[in-house]
Amino acid sequence: MFRLIKHKLYNMRVNYIRSVTTGAVNLSSTIHLPDYADVVIIGGGSAGCNALYHLGRYGVNAVLLDKSKLTSGTTWHTAGLVWSIRGPSDVEMELLNATRRVLNSLEKESGINPGWINNGGLYIAHSNERLDEYKRMITGSKAFGIQAHLISPREAKNLFPLLNESSIQGAIYSSEDGVIDPTMLINALTKSAKSNGCQIIEDCPVTKILTKETIKNNQIIYGVETLYGIIKTDVVLNAAGVWSKNVANMVGTNIPLTPIKHAYIVTEPIQGVQNLPNVRDPDISLYFRIQGSSIAIGGYEPNPITIPSVPEQFSFSLYELDWNIFNTHLESMIRLIPKLSTTGIRTTICGPESFTPDHKPIMGEDPHCSGLFYSCGYNSAGMMLGGGCGEQIAHWIIHGRPDKYMFNYDIRRFLPEQRNNSIWANDRSNEAYAKNYNIIFPHDAPLSGRNFKTDPFHNLLVKEGAIMEECQGWERPGWFSSTENVEITLYNGYGTSGNMHDAYSTIVEKERSFNFSPYNNIIREEALACRKSAALFDMSHLGKFYLSGPDAQKASDYLFTANTNRDFNKTIYTCMLNHAGGVETDCTVTVIKPDANEILKPTFKERAFYIVSNGVSAYHTWAHINKVIAENSFDVSLHDVTEQIGILSIQGPNSRNIIELLVKEEISDESLKYSTAKLVKVKNEMVRLIRLSFIGELGFELHIPKSSCQLVYTTLMDCAKSYNMKLAGYRALCSLSCEKGYLLWGFDLRTNDNPIEAGLGFTCRNNGNYLGKIAVDQLRKIGVKKKMIRVHLSGTVPLWGLETIYRNNCLVGYLRRAEQGYSCGDTIGHGYIRHPNKEYVTKEFVESGKYEIEAMGKRYAVNLLQLPTSSNQNGTKNL
Ligand SMILES: Cc1cc2nc3c(=O)[nH]c(=O)nc-3n(C[C@H](O)[C@H](O)[C@H](O)COP(=O)(O)OP(=O)(O)OC[C@H]3O[C@@H](n4cnc5c(N)ncnc54)[C@H](O)[C@@H]3O)c2cc1C
Repeated sequence: MFRLIKHKLYNMRVNYIRSVTTGAVNLSSTIHLPDYADVVIIGGGSAGCNALYHLGRYGVNAVLLDKSKLTSGTTWHTAGLVWSIRGPSDVEMELLNATRRVLNSLEKESGINPGWINNGGLYIAHSNERLDEYKRMITGSKAFGIQAHLISPREAKNLFPLLNESSIQGAIYSSEDGVIDPTMLINALTKSAKSNGCQIIEDCPVTKILTKETIKNNQIIYGVETLYGIIKTDVVLNAAGVWSKNVANMVGTNIPLTPIKHAYIVTEPIQGVQNLPNVRDPDISLYFRIQGSSIAIGGYEPNPITIPSVPEQFSFSLYELDWNIFNTHLESMIRLIPKLSTTGIRTTICGPESFTPDHKPIMGEDPHCSGLFYSCGYNSAGMMLGGGCGEQIAHWIIHGRPDKYMFNYDIRRFLPEQRNNSIWANDRSNEAYAKNYNIIFPHDAPLSGRNFKTDPFHNLLVKEGAIMEECQGWERPGWFSSTENVEITLYNGYGTSGNMHDAYSTIVEKERSFNFSPYNNIIREEALACRKSAALFDMSHLGKFYLSGPDAQKASDYLFTANTNRDFNKTIYTCMLNHAGGVETDCTVTVIKPDANEILKPTFKERAFYIVSNGVSAYHTWAHINKVIAENSFDVSLHDVTEQIGILSIQGPNSRNIIELLVKEEISDESLKYSTAKLVKVKNEMVRLIRLSFIGELGFELHIPKSSCQLVYTTLMDCAKSYNMKLAGYRALCSLSCEKGYLLWGFDLRTNDNPIEAGLGFTCRNNGNYLGKIAVDQLRKIGVKKKMIRVHLSGTVPLWGLETIYRNNCLVGYLRRAEQGYSCGDTIGHGYIRHPNKEYVTKEFVESGKYEIEAMGKRYAVNLLQLPTSSNQNGTKNL
């Protein structure tokens, strides 16, 4: 067995202590603060120093303050591994590429070796499923130029001779991976930043962030207070690692960040290991890093220890390793590397690291405090993501937005309730930690933090067999089981001790595959019912906002690309853009008249707008609108009525027949035209009826005050009895809408996609002025360098997104998403293509090509599908 030498501690790089020192920081009289800085960064770890480096390169006068010394938080004791492929995420691969670009250029730039060793990486597989994931990852990585390929167990052993070849099924080898020495990296980054005019002040804790209130009860930053005085600034970057929550608390806000103990051990020297590649073995939740002649071995346990709070004085400090937690790894590490059974442990490293509910960092500007930016919550990937995220946060600070699609890292992806609920955040972070190395299957669902937000139909639909999925805190039906009612039970830990065997997790478990879902037939029936008769979708989690006030039309003209200066009750599909022309969101806007009978509160004195935005980014949309309002001093109010209104959407050829039974008002084609709304009564309850479709059929949405939801639902179900209406979920909805070419924000439409590139030029008016119009007009004039295409693949090949696209045998892009088309029988993919010679992508270029898709290493011929146009895209899907 492993020869445990637990207490033979060995100091590797810096002096550290294992107990917390107490007492105040030593006040130094020699610290002189500048009066003003463009940006003050709080925290001198990987996040802060990478941000400083990039800000310096852009010529920003930034000052970094650390309460102790640079690296003294988590950074100094990192394992420092840098992988080139992580998770099936295009953005993450781009960020990792950006980090490696920094590492490869830093020595030339700063004259200091940044401690980057490019020793390559092995990713081990013990199962066919893992090999499938690897095939998917390799295919996905091709569009990012990453050099990685599958190798046999023998080849893996040749690269890392200590491996037990018989215990593995195959591996990926990536020549671009490596390791970073944190101290050397921080030296190089800060030297470069200083040479660009930035300042670093150590032993200088920030004790207060100075803010003033704006008219709209928002806060705005004007400085920071330290033990040595005040620095005036408009921008503060919170890069305080596990202390970032304390820094957020300084302005009275919260962030969902959970400090968790994360550990690795370092072996005694082993002959012949020097310069071997890193090894990552996700099936046993372990990573191996060569450290001189030793191996550092760390992992992710099912029962990690959450730290309620890390003391302020915890600098260059570590915890004792808890062997009850870490022991879970011993057997599997020896099975993989038998030599470890006779190797001693030189030291153990157990430190605090920040984890978040979805295992993604927290970045961007706080919607409640202008000028407060975040770069924290790095989930044990802060070294490898540091360069890429540092570049993005610098861009965000300077230009008001990042240049990549960073929504999954953006603080605005969390609802305020999620930010303030530490039980939710801790449970979700605990699960995310335990699942860190799990295979990411397309339909995986979290077990923790569920039923966080439920709409007024929730209980009724669960009784009808709804199998729920989660969307940004809200529960929504994924599909309906005809045989069971499945409640989601309270989370009580991941793994065998937790709720892993209840009905819900059993369903989630059955869907853990890259093949079609075992529930496909049920979902197909829902989709077909919608095409042939009618289906009812609960869409209550969509974001719903009223924009009202004297400047409502003026604000609307500026916010929306489409013309909203229309008749009352007209519903318009539109985009909202940023300055660079990227789609911040797409939504529908209904023009509302000031109506005394208006019961869908609030009532308005002037013309107002009812905005319905997609569910994924409802809060992001709310924050975007508010920011634009504040920046332009529009005299308007934005009311968030998401919780007060439920939405039932009835779609399909029989939908009008059913609604005619439900309401007395006339709803013929003439009296309720497509894309118009009407106030109607259902059993005396006032409801807004909007004729809209997101699936290309006749369809209506009922927007119902919360108190009337149950009554309207039961009455509607009665009316629908003779029309074979089916309850349907989002899985069917995604397929139906994709078949008809509707675009999905977050996948097909992102903050760095222009509507012209996406084929949504018809939503962008030529006259007037709206945010992002200059960029739209520019592309209209000169053409696009990337263009959205839709392809379909006959047969039964499942696609999930990230599959590479070839045009005339040349790699031109990758799929952003794919859906199984239940009624057309094909698999459909959406993606953007670029010209291989970086030229403009013309219509002729798109249409003259022969296309193939590579999925899991195999190529398939595909055909183009038509892009949405104004004539066939009559509305939005609004997921
Ligand atoms: C055991 C272990 C292994 C890891 N292995 C890897 C790996 O292989 N690869 C990888 O990419 N990542 C790894 N990580 C994660 C990575 O090390 C971290 O994500 C990263 O170091 C975090 O950097 P940071 O700048 O966010 O935080 P920190 O390094 O903690 O920096 C925060 C700084 O803020 C300062 N500060 C806090 N409050 C204040 C205040 N009020 N005023 C002034 N200053 C303040 C602190 O003193 C500290 O220096 C590992 C982490 C651990 C624990």
